[in-house]
Amino acid sequence: MQDNNIRKIAIIGGGTSGWMSAAALAQVLRGKYSEITLIESDDIGTVGVGEATVPPMHIFNRMLDLNEADFMRKTQATFKLGIQFVNWARLGDSYLHGFGDIGKDINAIRFYHYWLKLSQQGLVEDLDNYKIASVAALQGKFMLPIDQPDSPLSEIAYAFHFDAGLYARYLREYAEARGVKRIEGKVINTRLFDNGFIEAVTLESGEQITADLFIDCSGFRGLLIEEALKTGYEDWSHWLPCDRAWAVATENCGEPKPYTKAIAHSAGWQWCIPLQHRTGNGHVFSSKFMSEDEARSILMNNLDGQAKGEPRLLKFITGKRKKVWQKNCVAIGLSSGFMEPLESTSIYLVQSALARLVTLFPNKNFDQHTIDEFNRQSDFEVERIRDFLILHYHATSRNDSVFWDYCRTMAIPPTLTEKIELFKSSGRVFRTAAEMFSDQSWIAVMNGQGIFPATYHPLVDRLSNDDVVRRAENIKKVIEKSVALMPSHAQFINHYCKAGIPD
Ligand SMILES: Cc1cc2nc3c(=O)[nH]c(=O)nc-3n(C[C@H](O)[C@H](O)[C@H](O)COP(=O)(O)OP(=O)(O)OC[C@H]3O[C@@H](n4cnc5c(N)ncnc54)[C@H](O)[C@@H]3O)c2cc1C
Repeated sequence: MQDNNIRKIAIIGGGTSGWMSAAALAQVLRGKYSEITLIESDDIGTVGVGEATVPPMHIFNRMLDLNEADFMRKTQATFKLGIQFVNWARLGDSYLHGFGDIGKDINAIRFYHYWLKLSQQGLVEDLDNYKIASVAALQGKFMLPIDQPDSPLSEIAYAFHFDAGLYARYLREYAEARGVKRIEGKVINTRLFDNGFIEAVTLESGEQITADLFIDCSGFRGLLIEEALKTGYEDWSHWLPCDRAWAVATENCGEPKPYTKAIAHSAGWQWCIPLQHRTGNGHVFSSKFMSEDEARSILMNNLDGQAKGEPRLLKFITGKRKKVWQKNCVAIGLSSGFMEPLESTSIYLVQSALARLVTLFPNKNFDQHTIDEFNRQSDFEVERIRDFLILHYHATSRNDSVFWDYCRTMAIPPTLTEKIELFKSSGRVFRTAAEMFSDQSWIAVMNGQGIFPATYHPLVDRLSNDDVVRRAENIKKVIEKSVALMPSHAQFINHYCKAGIPD
């Protein structure tokens, strides 16, 4: 009988997405089912600035059976409890999108509604005070969650900051140890069958690499998905106008903060990502509203530590590939699209695409229904993330620059309008199907960006005001006491995953 299974997989690209794909497929297929080859070109290099992640990264690490402390040591990683947004809602303002839940549900109603009732009467403090990740982050504290269900210490949700170059190297070792074959070389041509499927890629050396399934991890250009298969790109820059970033590393100054900082400027924003051996910085901006030179000097004039070298300019167009799976090619990583790094979602999207690929893994027939389902799920996921990102730009009262005037007044996708309007009228927000961000994340950002609902959930009135005040006060106190027990982030890293001096 003819073997219809996928026996040869070729991954083009050895950046974060290429090596994540190689590691995950090697682990799932265990080297016996398919032969995996990864091609990367030392001449072309990687983007190499994806350094902040989101909590679902744990699922990926668990799938690979990684030892967390080892992974952190080898990638100079620190912990991340959320993102601090400075100057986003208005100049001088700051809030945290901390990971995890806000307060504790009472009688099956989100704590946020109780908080809303009290805040309308001026009886509560900022929302950040009712989330353990946010309180710990601002005090520079960290510990791993403990197994004590009644304690907020069991609810600590965290992610990582890591060195993207070291992460790719780490996963390369992992993948090669599990049988992935690496070829160094530049792909100069893609050969197609008459039906449009990819037959082989040709390297500069003349070598031809054939495969049943091709994974395009070649970065923004989309060597296979776009240059060979002409899939097309949906441009979202009218909603997400930033299209450039200057990136530079600095020496650390002070202890690493357990959160990413995102400081809004007049035509974009600046990130600050503390690692063990250095701090990653960048200024993401819109070239329609600011020149590259001005953006560069804003970055260089707003660094906390000494710059390690000259800044690097990266160019991108926010949007997504029209189809991320075409024929026998699946685009993963930047080749599939990019929505800017504001909520650190790109590495998550690589992980999620890989999970989807495993679930919908094809055979050589490449069933079109399976491909369509993959594309439908991918579109849904990125469109919901896109809405969440637009929210940060659109829901602002900043009117101090043409950029912010544009963002504040631009037309937004109807799916986002619906979410904002429901929240404004009722304080309610729902996670639609398998969208990435939970209602708690939406609430943190809507509230932080200054959207205040007209009213709260009516069933909150089942409790007396005094009772609600008492419970809110209690939640805050328990969080404060719990955070007081936590070591500093730096102490925790020193004892758990201190890295050596880098090569
Ligand atoms: C400014 C900025 C900040 C970011 N910050 C974050 C963040 O904080 N968190 C996050 O999750 N994500 C972030 N990202 C996204 C993240 O960097 C990427 O998702 C991640 O690095 C994956 O990139 P990639 O592997 O798809 O592509 P790349 O890193 O571009 O790698 C492409 C690979 O393809 C190879 N290649 C290309 N052409 C050829 C060829 N012809 N022949 C052979 N090989 C070839 C190259 O050699 C390279 O190995 C950021 C991106 C940008 C631009």
